[in-house]
Amino acid sequence: MPPISSDALVLRSYKLGETSKVVVLLTRERGKVRAVAKGARGRRNRYHSALEPLSEVRVGLYGRQGAELYRLGECELLRSAFPAGARGLDEAMALSYFAELLDAFSLEGEAEDAVYRLALAIVAAVEEGSPVTALARYLEAWLLRLNGLYPSLDRCASCPRGLPAGSLEYHAGAHGFVCSECGPASGPALTAGTGSYLRRIFGHAPSAVGAAGEDESASLESFHRDLIRRHLERDLRSHRVLRDVARGVRGVQGTPQLDERERDSLPRERKTLP
Ligand SMILES: [Zn+2]
Repeated sequence: MPPISSDALVLRSYKLGETSKVVVLLTRERGKVRAVAKGARGRRNRYHSALEPLSEVRVGLYGRQGAELYRLGECELLRSAFPAGARGLDEAMALSYFAELLDAFSLEGEAEDAVYRLALAIVAAVEEGSPVTALARYLEAWLLRLNGLYPSLDRCASCPRGLPAGSLEYHAGAHGFVCSECGPASGPALTAGTGSYLRRIFGHAPSAVGAAGEDESASLESFHRDLIRRHLERDLRSHRVLRDVARGVRGVQGTPQLDERERDSLPRERKTLP
């Protein structure tokens, strides 16, 4: 059977047996897929460092269309995430968080070119030295929006009026920002400054957005976390690690072990019909 050939971003990998790995890939052609990489562990690892999270690779995948698990054939490294991760611990941990976020928001077997291009632009921005906190808010905002989960910044969520200038008042019941007629809103309220930062996110490339102020950044972080939690019905593990590190909290062993999170099970995600 001829292989499927696609560009792909590595999202994560986990051990399989003594010598292999299962690699979760965000492919350009088929969306998220899982593939067994035989011989990806041990001294004779034929994939070398191509399977690092958020590296871009060109892969050959064997297996019938819609298979739950493909077999990974050739895997050519197009762009390593190593230079981005090597900028520092913050950058390395941010890449883990970005990969987990992309994994959580991607559906198996459903190609989403916008998500793929977004991910590439984010990795390039990390490598160029854009502040990773800003990139985290950027990626969250766009993944939420591409999934139809970001409330409108212009229209009231419960009536046809436009939203007034100034702060954005969120109403949980309406799943969006509401005008003063439809208030009082349940909150949170995002300041006018946070609102204009969001417009910058939705109007610019990630490398052009720049850092938000501390207050804006903190309120967006918590706003996004709530939206993400409601959608996924869980928190993301590497986001918690990032927050703990930002607060100076470390585990007993010091540096968090982000790459040890893949022990758990095989596919749990929704399946998409062909
Ligand atoms: Zn209204």
